[in-house]
Amino acid sequence: MPGFELFGENEKKQVQDVLDSGVLMRYGFDGMRNGHWKAKELEKALAERMQTGYVHLTSSGTSALTVALASAGVGAGDEVIMPTFTFVASFESILALGAVPVLVDVDDTLTLSPSAVQKALTDKTKVIMPVHMCGSMANLKALQEICKANAILLLEDACQAIGATYNGQAVGSIGDLGCLSFDYVKTITCGEGGALLTNKEAYYQNAHMYSDHGHDHIGSDRGAEAHPFLGYNYRISELNAAVGLAQVARLDDFLTIQERNYTTLREAIAPIDGIQFRTVPEGGAENYSFLNFFLPSEAKAAEAQNALSEAGIDGCFYWYNNNWHYYRKWEHLINKTALGRLPKDVLEALPDYNKSDFSASDHWVGRNLSCLIKLSWTESEVQARAKKMADVLGAIL
Ligand SMILES: *Cc1c(COP(=O)(O)O)cnc(C)c1O
Repeated sequence: MPGFELFGENEKKQVQDVLDSGVLMRYGFDGMRNGHWKAKELEKALAERMQTGYVHLTSSGTSALTVALASAGVGAGDEVIMPTFTFVASFESILALGAVPVLVDVDDTLTLSPSAVQKALTDKTKVIMPVHMCGSMANLKALQEICKANAILLLEDACQAIGATYNGQAVGSIGDLGCLSFDYVKTITCGEGGALLTNKEAYYQNAHMYSDHGHDHIGSDRGAEAHPFLGYNYRISELNAAVGLAQVARLDDFLTIQERNYTTLREAIAPIDGIQFRTVPEGGAENYSFLNFFLPSEAKAAEAQNALSEAGIDGCFYWYNNNWHYYRKWEHLINKTALGRLPKDVLEALPDYNKSDFSASDHWVGRNLSCLIKLSWTESEVQARAKKMADVLGAIL
C-alpha cells in the first residue's frame, strides 16, 4: 500500500465517465448522468467483496465512524471504549456526537485488550470500538462475548485492515457496524472517502439519511424530501467514488503483492534472536500492509528504527513517538482543548488522561516497529531490503 502506487487506466476511465456527464453529485440529476451512479456501484461492489448486507459511503473514514455511531443512536453521555493505539479519528468521531471516549489498553495484538475492556465497562458503555491497526485484527471472539453479555454494540474500525479476514470473514463485516477508509494513504484509495458496513437495515437507513442532512431519500424530487431527524453532510462525491470503483476491483491483486513482499521480509528477520512478531488472533489473516514486530526494549526499538533509517530502509515507523497514533502525544484530548466550549456531559465525564496508567500499552507499543509494505517494489528491491533489514537488526540484537 498505498493503492495510488499502482493507479492505472481504469482509474482514469472511471473519473472521465463522471467528468463527461458533469454530474459530481451522488443523488439526483437522473437525466444528465449517462447512467453513471459511481457511489451506488461502489457500494454494491463493496457489499459483495466484504460479504455484508449494506454499505454506505461517506466523505472519509472519520465521518464513516461518526455516522456509524450516530446510526446506532449514540449521543450525549454515552461511553465508547476505544484503544490507546489508533488514529485520532477514533476519539474525534465519538466527541462529535457528544459521547465520551474511554481509552483502554492494547495487548500483543496491538489492538484492544479484551481483559482491559472488561474492566472499563460501566452502565454507560454503549459501544466497543476495536481498531484493527496496521493490517491485523483484535480478538473479535472475546470482544463479541463481552458485547453479548452486556448488550453493547461492536463497531469495528477496519480503516487500516481492508482485506484482512477473521475465521474467513472480512474484518469490518463482523461487528454490528464496521468502517473503512479510502484516504490518500490507505490500501485502496480514492483521495478522501470512507464506508460504513452493516447487516442491520435500520442502521443502514439511518446512515444514508444522517450523511445527507437527514433527507429521507424517498421520491425523485430532493426538494420535497422529508427530514425524519437532524443530519449533516458527510456525502462522498462521484469523482471520489469513481476512483474507488477502479481500486476495489484491484484489492485482491494488491493483497497478493503485499503478502508476497511481507513474507520475504518476515522470513529474513525471523531467525534473529530478540525479534517477536505481533500476535494475530487465532483464525485471523492479516492484509499484510505492515510487518509489525517487537524489540526486547524501548531503547532497542528506538535504536533499531534509527539504524534502519540510516541504512536507507524507509517506512519503518515507531508509533510510540508519533503524534497521530498513540495517546501519549494527544495533548489536545488530554488537556480537553477545543475551539469552543465542550459539552458539559463530555467535560464532566472525560477521564483525566494526564493521570491514567497505560503502562500495559507502553509495554507493547514502546517496543514495536511497523514497516510499511509497498506494492511497487520490484522483486530485487524486496530481496535487497530483506537482506539489509536482517543485517541491521542482527547487528544491534
Ligand atoms: C485512516 C484511519 C481512519 C479514518 O481516516 P480518514 O483519513 O478520515 O479516512 C480511522 N481510523 C484509522 C485507524 C485510520 O487509520
